[in-house]
Amino acid sequence: MPTADYVVVGSGLTGAVIARSLRDAGRDVVVVERREHLGGNVHDHLHPSGIRIHTYGPHYFRTNSDALWAFVKRFAEFYPYVAELRSEVDGMAEQWPIAASYIRRTVGDTWTPAFVGTPTNFEEASLAMMPEPVYRKFVQGYTEKQWGVPAHTLSAELAKRFDVREDDDPRLMRHAFQGIPRQGYTAWMAAMLDGISVELGIDFLQQRRRWHARRCLIFTGPIDEYYGFDLGRLMYRGQRRTHHFHADVSGFLLPAGQVNHPDPHSGPQIRTLEWKRMMPPDAARTIRGTVLTQETPFTPDAPEGFEYPFPDEANRRLYEAYRRRVEADGSLMICGRLGEYRYYDMDQAIGRALMLSRRLLGEDVTAL
Ligand SMILES: Cc1cc2nc3c(=O)[nH]c(=O)nc-3n(C[C@H](O)[C@H](O)[C@H](O)COP(=O)(O)OP(=O)(O)OC[C@H]3O[C@@H](n4cnc5c(N)ncnc54)[C@H](O)[C@@H]3O)c2cc1C
Repeated sequence: MPTADYVVVGSGLTGAVIARSLRDAGRDVVVVERREHLGGNVHDHLHPSGIRIHTYGPHYFRTNSDALWAFVKRFAEFYPYVAELRSEVDGMAEQWPIAASYIRRTVGDTWTPAFVGTPTNFEEASLAMMPEPVYRKFVQGYTEKQWGVPAHTLSAELAKRFDVREDDDPRLMRHAFQGIPRQGYTAWMAAMLDGISVELGIDFLQQRRRWHARRCLIFTGPIDEYYGFDLGRLMYRGQRRTHHFHADVSGFLLPAGQVNHPDPHSGPQIRTLEWKRMMPPDAARTIRGTVLTQETPFTPDAPEGFEYPFPDEANRRLYEAYRRRVEADGSLMICGRLGEYRYYDMDQAIGRALMLSRRLLGEDVTAL
């Protein structure tokens, strides 16, 4: 039976950062990954045209932390990439997040938000930022496609992920440091895991007894799957992706790397991506053709499709019930976006993994 101080299950950002930190501290660590490739959700690959596709959806790295920016650049060169998105509204590619100038243009100079008070759900929280017609056109349809339920049944917290831009700032995020690894996320993750034993294509849960962790097992897969779903299944939303190569295009087809489709009558697709727009401009210029990818949300049954934890009270309570079990086991850490049933941006996932590593190295293995 292979033995290591630490067995890390999952080679996504959480598992890779923890494995790197433990290895750097001289600890003995092995990583086990279910997929045939490393990198988890940030994995990317090259289309035959040379266009880089983010396999599990577009990933724009950003952080405000000098320390995190230095950490990620330790493993790769990043080129500057500041995501600017559009939303297809009334046949036009309007800016997303919504520009205040759009509201003045369509509603009038003296517009006010449609909701006043303390929002109790996503719809109210959104209406607290904008007039109702703007909410209907930009937000409601997109949100209901994404989650498959009426927007008023979702948590108000979700609305914290966007705002109305008083200054018309077109950047999706305003973080100080933004970019994408020049050779792609997969190469970046491979560099992070350099010198660490990584076993690909192995489902740890199917072969639990094959490894023995002398100090701690770190599991970054779905927490409910770890326990055989015996308290019930946590719900996720995922995206089906269809890719189309347009060979006869020398430039670009879309006005931005990501165009959202909030109109409920435009079909179930939620957004279209043009990957070439996300590549370094010097590399993109040399490529003929372009790949467009359409994403359509669905509710996955199998863990491979789990992308977004479902933001409602029933799932939160079920998660808490699983979490209490982990707390009873001092040699087990369940963490990461699937282990903590929580959406983490990449910088948040890295920051948390660094913090958990320090806890492990302090040998204070309080289960998490
Ligand atoms: C569609 C989408 C778009 C996103 N875009 C952005 C963005 O633009 N910017 C940003 O900052 N963040 C973005 N994120 C967030 C980013 O993907 C996460 O921060 C990151 O994936 C977290 O890494 P993780 O290691 O916690 O999870 P994962 O990357 O999911 O890693 C978990 C790993 O564990 C493996 N695993 C699970 N079970 C087992 C098992 N039983 N045995 C062996 N291995 C197992 C999985 O195969 C996987 O490789 C996005 C997320 C999604 C869903």
